[in-house]
Amino acid sequence: MRENIILECTECKRRNYTSMKEKRNTPERIEKKKYCKFERKHTVHKEVR
Ligand SMILES: [Zn+2]
Repeated sequence: MRENIILECTECKRRNYTSMKEKRNTPERIEKKKYCKFERKHTVHKEVR
């Protein structure tokens, strides 16, 4: 079961990325350090639904 997710920047709250995840392996909300093009730096991005 793969599911589409949206990754939101925790600092500016912009939704910068879409991704896929395996719901069975990672039932919790994932966090990833990604590049935010609006702030032009790497920030933590969290899964939103
Ligand atoms: Zn940002």
